[in-house]
Amino acid sequence: MKNFEYAVPRTEAEALGLLSREWGETEILAGGTDLVGLMKKMIVTPDRVVNIKEIPTLRGVSETADGILIGAVTPLDEVLDSPLLDDFPAVKQAIRGISSIQLQAQGTIGGELCQRPQCWYYRNGGGLLADRGKLVASGDNRYHAIFNNSGPAKFVHPSRLAPALIALGAAVRVIGPKQDQESLVPLAEFYRVPRDDNQRETVLAPSQLVTHVYVPWLNLHSATYEVRHGEGPDYPLAAAAAALEISGGVVREARIVLGHVAPTPLVSGDARNALVGRSVDANTAESAGAAAVAHATPLSHNGYKAQLAKTAVKRAILLAAGLETGGF
Ligand SMILES: Cc1cc2nc3c(=O)[nH]c(=O)nc-3n(C[C@H](O)[C@H](O)[C@H](O)COP(=O)(O)OP(=O)(O)OC[C@H]3O[C@@H](n4cnc5c(N)ncnc54)[C@H](O)[C@@H]3O)c2cc1C
Repeated sequence: MKNFEYAVPRTEAEALGLLSREWGETEILAGGTDLVGLMKKMIVTPDRVVNIKEIPTLRGVSETADGILIGAVTPLDEVLDSPLLDDFPAVKQAIRGISSIQLQAQGTIGGELCQRPQCWYYRNGGGLLADRGKLVASGDNRYHAIFNNSGPAKFVHPSRLAPALIALGAAVRVIGPKQDQESLVPLAEFYRVPRDDNQRETVLAPSQLVTHVYVPWLNLHSATYEVRHGEGPDYPLAAAAAALEISGGVVREARIVLGHVAPTPLVSGDARNALVGRSVDANTAESAGAAAVAHATPLSHNGYKAQLAKTAVKRAILLAAGLETGGF
């Protein structure tokens, strides 16, 4: 690991003052379950690490007039245990999917949303875009993207919570780069596909940070379904979150978000269109799953993921509608 300066700010303003305007010079440390491994492997080599876990305003789950506010450094197990999140089963199911009490206790919600891709070319020093996508296209790409993979970025976004939170209409409060700047960014607009080495996977600038996650009360039926290798602390092969507005037995609105199939969490308008105006049953859920993957563009070794994603969408919809109790 490269030597670095270690800073422990106590306020949001102090944290902003410690962050560089250039990527790579400083890194934000929350639970460290992702960042420390990257630093040990010299994939990231900051001059300064800014530990934001001692900023009291960034921790805890609270209720607002129209939703729930979760501080970015709140550990995942505290989110899981909070009764305020009981009406958002998709979020709790996604956290349970991590299936490691150590990671749930140490990892934070902000870190989970901002964790870096697991792409093995990136993790082995090949760069985030792995020679502008050439390494992935010509190599072992069995866990890579099956959507939005025509550019240099072919990794899948690793967040488990992002699909659930996007489906629920969540937003993140972002502060910086200037001291008095803050904005509420819909999570659906937070992720982006990097086009070159100067971009990362979110719209955050190097001197910005996420302080809170806001989840609105929208009275939605929600669920997350993941297709996984097994029960260990490993990432899903494909996942989907569904949030449905149902009245009179009919789906009035739906947000279906796929995970682990593209460089960003992927909102499927096709799956939504296959559901709205219909009642949920095995057939409509199956049709929505088929619609979600109809335009997949698999790479040479990951065609199987389209079937897994289709199943994830179907199961998430059935779980959300209470027609299936499997999953978690
Ligand atoms: C052995 C192992 C197995 C794992 N398995 C899984 C798994 O199966 N499923 C899964 O989902 N995850 C898994 N993880 C990853 C882990 O769940 C996530 O890395 C964790 O949730 C990240 O949270 P953290 O607080 O530790 O983040 P950190 O490691 O502290 O930070 C992660 C990244 O986010 C940035 N960051 C953190 N907080 C903020 C913020 N508030 N604003 C802006 N940027 C921020 C950091 O700079 C860093 O780049 C695994 C990790 C390990 C070590």
